[in-house]
Amino acid sequence: MSDHYVKVKVQLEQMKSLGQDAEKEGVDAEQVPVSSPSASDSPDPSSITIPATDASSTSKPRGKSRSKPGKDDKNSSGKQISDLSLHGSVVSATAEKNLNRLGYERTLHIRGTGKILQGKSETNGNYVTIHASKNGQQARREDGFKLARKRRPVTVDTSKAKTSLEALKISIRQLKWKEFPLGRRAACDIYWHGVSFHDNENIVSGQVNKFPGMIEMLRKINMSRAVRTMQELFPEEYDFYPRSWILPEEYQQFSTQIRMVKENDATVNPTFIVKPDGGSQGDGIYLIRDPSDLKLMAGSQAKQSVVQEYIQKPLLIDKLKFDIRLYVLIKSLEPLEIYIAKEGLTRFCTEPYQEPSQKNLSHVFMHLTNYSLNVHSGNFVHSDSQSTGSKRTLSSVLYRLAAKGVDIKRVWSDIIALVIKTVIAVVPELKVYYQADIPPGKPGPTCFQILGFDILLMKNLKPVLLEVNSNPSMRIEHEQEVAPGVFEYVPSPVDEEVKVGVIRDTLRLMDPGHRKPIIAQIRAGGFEHGEEIPMEAESQERSPEEIGSLPSLCLKQVYPKYTKQFNYLRLVERIAALFIRFLGVKGNMRLGPTAFRTFIRTCKLSNSNFTMASVDILYIDITRRWSGAMPDSREAGMGLQAFVEAFFYLAGRRFKSLALKEQGAATSH
Ligand code: ADP
Repeated sequence: MSDHYVKVKVQLEQMKSLGQDAEKEGVDAEQVPVSSPSASDSPDPSSITIPATDASSTSKPRGKSRSKPGKDDKNSSGKQISDLSLHGSVVSATAEKNLNRLGYERTLHIRGTGKILQGKSETNGNYVTIHASKNGQQARREDGFKLARKRRPVTVDTSKAKTSLEALKISIRQLKWKEFPLGRRAACDIYWHGVSFHDNENIVSGQVNKFPGMIEMLRKINMSRAVRTMQELFPEEYDFYPRSWILPEEYQQFSTQIRMVKENDATVNPTFIVKPDGGSQGDGIYLIRDPSDLKLMAGSQAKQSVVQEYIQKPLLIDKLKFDIRLYVLIKSLEPLEIYIAKEGLTRFCTEPYQEPSQKNLSHVFMHLTNYSLNVHSGNFVHSDSQSTGSKRTLSSVLYRLAAKGVDIKRVWSDIIALVIKTVIAVVPELKVYYQADIPPGKPGPTCFQILGFDILLMKNLKPVLLEVNSNPSMRIEHEQEVAPGVFEYVPSPVDEEVKVGVIRDTLRLMDPGHRKPIIAQIRAGGFEHGEEIPMEAESQERSPEEIGSLPSLCLKQVYPKYTKQFNYLRLVERIAALFIRFLGVKGNMRLGPTAFRTFIRTCKLSNSNFTMASVDILYIDITRRWSGAMPDSREAGMGLQAFVEAFFYLAGRRFKSLALKEQGAATSH
């Protein structure tokens, strides 16, 4: 690591604009033993003891639509350069540029940040309030702790819990907490929403189980954009997401690239999966083998969707394709805290898998693992057992793979890395939403959220991210035909086993009277980049009264625990911190031209070669292109994605004179 980079890193640490990274300096990398959970634990895939190898390479808009505008005609990554199968030379042409962009960005970012930190008087006033935001959040949570300690038991408003109600009720009973099924005039400690942050309006305290903006952020298009930004910066780290194009805006790129691939090698016959934006449960999804098969229009409207490389060789069990549903808790955005449920679900197809061919493209029971589709197949098997049937526990599948000699420790480690990286990709924009809905200084709740990660294992055991659900189903019963034509909801033991554990332990972690797990915080140093993430049973974070009465936590902290290994990826988040500082009015999500000028002036980015007039032109140009990409964007101004593009452009201009060596040093970390 060069001195330059060390200096830069120190400055970055000082900045921590939207609140501190959770990284704790001076903590040694821990050595956590691989151990099995106690017999009372729920089945835990991470506890399977087999020889270690190296690891990890690693919704629907609320009232006002806040989908991000977007334009992206860049499709480059180091990975893609070496793999010409799809993107071909289009990629190579821009690769070098992007490498440089990264170097510029880091340098500019730090310098700019340093100036801002020192130059308070030149900012538009948000600088101060952002710190208030961080402190406000922490203060709110601490107030919550104090309050709740006085007024046990913890109170939960379940009036908006919808389909998660059953699992939630069981969890609250197990914890001996107090449920308010019809809501409560006085404030509750926790509000459990079935859909969105806004299910209950005007919550001014406590904790809500949804983040503002999460639904919007995880819609297929936004998610693809966020991951793509990261793929451009860190191509190898983000190669777990299939190549995707956003329709209709990237139709031309998509068809040109595919045509080139086919012309280059006639034996290549890729398949693509088309997913409507905002769709779920397999709705509207279809497979194609040629761009001309796209159904681009819905009536007179262009369909917003993502077309994605189809993974042709998934890992099969009993000749069936399956995917993994993993539950992930974002306990806090600031500092970032991520937990992964040690137990998950696997959902099986109901027709034996064959690689896609023109004949079988429409066989949904063969290609799509969605429960909601396969449950209608005559072959669907409801099972009381966790290791058979069309829905099984993740641990039962991992045990089975381990028995076949698969290195499941590595698989698990790769899955953890995938989850952390994905969260890192969406956090920047989530923070923009957060400050817009809960502006610093305004009373508001703190938030947490359980997400559902859908992950496919490839035949070579590499996990691939399919999508992240902001509202994973927490139903613990399923519809069954109890007599011909008569359907009833009957309990589903597999769902109950997994989902009650996830909800109950989420509540335990969010318990306002629960002291912060000091051990986990001290460990925040985690592992160095490139080091293996060990599989181990999580240390149990239980208060004395819980010991003996409740099973050990099924949620494992992975961040800040592995901060050292992943913190270097949190680059866009730091650009977002700048963006948030310069947002003019509280509650805004877009930067106006004056605030953009203030940003330029504060960071001293203009000079005789780049006048304020050029700044204005840049602003107009980029903002216009991004708003064109999302016709439904109602707020005027520059959104985060556009700002990120402007940022890289400016970084390239400002630091092109830097020695290549220095750029390389900054880039390599
Ligand atoms: P939805 O939100 O409608 O469920 P998903 O993205 O989860 O959309 O896709 C539905 C299903 O299609 C997945 O569960 C998986 O079985 C299959 N699938 C999705 N993307 C891919 C892909 N890139 N390659 C192979 N199969 C995929």
